[in-house]
Amino acid sequence: MEQRYYQPEIECASPETIKALQDERLVKQVKHVYENVPYYRDMMDKKGVKPEDIKSTADLHKLPFITKDDLREAYPYGLLAKPLSECVRIQSTSGTTGRRVVAFYTQHDIDLWEDCCARAIVAAGGTNEDVCQVSYGYGLFTGGPGLNGGSHKVGCLTLPMSSGNTERQLQFMTDLNATILCCTPSYAAYLGESLREKGYGPDDIPLKAGIFGAEPWTEEMRHDIEKTLGIKAYDIYGLTEISGPGVSFECSEQTGMHINEDHFIAEIINPETGEVLPEGEIGELVFTSLTKEAFPLLRYRTRDLCVLNRKKCSCGRTFIKMSKPLGRSDDMLIIRGVNVFPSQIETVLLKEGYSPNYRIEVDRVNNTDTFDVYVELSQEMFSDTVKDITEREAKLAAAMRTMLGIGPKMHLVAPKTIARSEGKAVRVIDKRKLH
Ligand code: ADP
Ligand code: ZN
Repeated sequence: MEQRYYQPEIECASPETIKALQDERLVKQVKHVYENVPYYRDMMDKKGVKPEDIKSTADLHKLPFITKDDLREAYPYGLLAKPLSECVRIQSTSGTTGRRVVAFYTQHDIDLWEDCCARAIVAAGGTNEDVCQVSYGYGLFTGGPGLNGGSHKVGCLTLPMSSGNTERQLQFMTDLNATILCCTPSYAAYLGESLREKGYGPDDIPLKAGIFGAEPWTEEMRHDIEKTLGIKAYDIYGLTEISGPGVSFECSEQTGMHINEDHFIAEIINPETGEVLPEGEIGELVFTSLTKEAFPLLRYRTRDLCVLNRKKCSCGRTFIKMSKPLGRSDDMLIIRGVNVFPSQIETVLLKEGYSPNYRIEVDRVNNTDTFDVYVELSQEMFSDTVKDITEREAKLAAAMRTMLGIGPKMHLVAPKTIARSEGKAVRVIDKRKLH
């Protein structure tokens, strides 16, 4: 397949060209923020940094970090860098980890954000011949509006479904021949499951690609979705604070997501010390937005843990790539002193042939952490394994212990007893936080 790009002159520019562009844009952006955002100006003053000290990306480390707590403290207008009269849109985070924060956009900001989403759609093979079904939520959540705008830019026939109403999703997908599906991976898995139940195999639907993100998902989950829907599944990453989906996106190589470096500088830091780590090391992802006018964040700590890599990519794009986030630093569970990521549990479950419908429950009883994982049996498993459930649970618990270093109590439950998600899936219930 011939590789296509939405904006080839920048997506395939030489690393030197990109670096020069970043240097120039950073200097301008720091000045813009210092002059227009008193909250950040105070932070810079406290650190003794002046805009003149930032001459290129090599000086980036001199700037203070900004965190989600700053966003909450400055809510709603404290980090705004343009008069409201120049802003045309507000979006908000999903509130996965606490109070929602809001972000503002000028028309120019929206335009660049939609370009980023268009790059992702083209990287997934999208053209103006495609019918693009956008099943991310529309509204304050950035998923729907972002991909909708990108889809228009590419010239796809756009189906603005939003999330939910699964019956109608399937009807429109089949009646109107959707070729690209955009939604959360957990919703894609649910749509796949519902199609199978209706007797549709992967060859019965014209879908060819999916653009799935907004939540962590494993390689095993990718294979599962690709098989059920008969598509190639591409990852897409983003966060409201930095614009929305399309901060980075996957290409045909499927080995990480290209970060749109003309708009964002990525750094990896040690989350404990704040020290910048060399490429290839795992740490917390930090973004500086270079082109945002209304809500330009400098050195924003995402709390997402991942690795950067600038190896040459077979797709021809030169932007640096980030790995799938391992999870959020605040997603990591510490159970009896052991670090556990939900993604590790998902990996074991899918490898052992179970569905991605699971729930993790952690509690503290008599000063000891309890660790329970509930997993749904498929209809087939349910009918032939009623007798050997205990044996299956023990086998799964052992596989978990090998992966995690700690064995959960496994509970295999009847099909359809774990709630499906239409947006971001809720996998973890940590009751220790309630005590
Ligand atoms: P919230 O932080 O409240 O969920 P957003 O809706 O803006 O707000 O979601 C952004 C977050 O979603 C990211 O910081 C990241 O943790 C997660 N996320 C987004 N895309 C992906 C992806 N492709 N893989 C894993 N996590 C993702
Ligand atoms: Zn690539």
